Amino acid sequence: MSAPVQGKVRPGGVAEAAALRFTGVSFAYRANGSAGQRLTDVSLEVEAGSSLAIIGPNGSGKTTLLRLAAGELVADQGRIEACGLDPSSSVRRLLARRVAVVSAQPLVGFPYSVEEVVLMGRAPHVEGFRLESDYDLDVARSAMEAMDVLALAERIFDSLSSGEKQRAAVARALTQQPDLLLLDEPGAFLDIKHQVALYDLLRRRSLEDGLTVVSVLHDLNLAALYFERVALLRGGRLFACGTPSEVITYANVREVYETDVYVDRNHLTGQLNVLPLPLGWTSQAEGAPTLQRETRSAGSNVKSTRMPPEGN
Ligand code: ADP
Repeated sequence: MSAPVQGKVRPGGVAEAAALRFTGVSFAYRANGSAGQRLTDVSLEVEAGSSLAIIGPNGSGKTTLLRLAAGELVADQGRIEACGLDPSSSVRRLLARRVAVVSAQPLVGFPYSVEEVVLMGRAPHVEGFRLESDYDLDVARSAMEAMDVLALAERIFDSLSSGEKQRAAVARALTQQPDLLLLDEPGAFLDIKHQVALYDLLRRRSLEDGLTVVSVLHDLNLAALYFERVALLRGGRLFACGTPSEVITYANVREVYETDVYVDRNHLTGQLNVLPLPLGWTSQAEGAPTLQRETRSAGSNVKSTRMPPEGN
């Protein structure tokens, strides 16, 4: 009897077990006088067509993990598979047909227009010196529309604001029509409208087209709201991995971020809400219960503003 096939069935009818797999991966930077392992024995698997948020404090190894997945860095130990390919040794063009990357601060370094940069996303699919087809132009145009950068098409990419650059960089990655999309904090410079539009779009692509989305995120609320699974890093090690409710708990956040938070469930979305608590919040709540009043008036059935240490 053949083993059951895991993973979502792609629109084409083909099922893939894992779009991204790390098995016992360790890595240390050698240049810039950097010493010590920055990622240690990380194993994780992202099912094809699903979404994973990578969270963790500054310097915990999130970007390093993403760069290893993209083949920009080579693991010292362990094995990485992205869409069945070894990202560090695959022909770049072949990898780019399956995997797209949006880095944290996209920069082109040449005076290319936004449209030209977005169209570069078609390069892995365009054979030889053939010019882009109408289909290529349509794909680029609809990605620019989706990311609200169509009006910026003629502008020089590097002259855009940080948020505009991020949106154009996501448009380029979507134009690549990848199976696996790797993003490093893509919403960092986006206003709330564009943040919601971005994560709505990524979720839709994941659900409807089977796109696998792996994104580094700082915002724990967005991670809980939009991602099926969450990987929490601490000091280069995988501290926890699971559903948002399993990973984003009071106890985990307290331990890893060394910060008190209030974790509750949003009564509208049913997803987690995570609010930071200011230093000394306990005595404030005892003296003048501002936090208690606020949480109760929001309609929550909160018994106490302090979450029990064992968390939810
Ligand atoms: P995060 O994305 O979680 O903030 P990073 O993966 O960027 O963390 O960095 C993990 C660790 O590796 C940090 O201590 C950082 O200083 C170090 N590091 C990152 N990039 C380099 C580099 N190019 N050379 C040397 N050390 C680096």
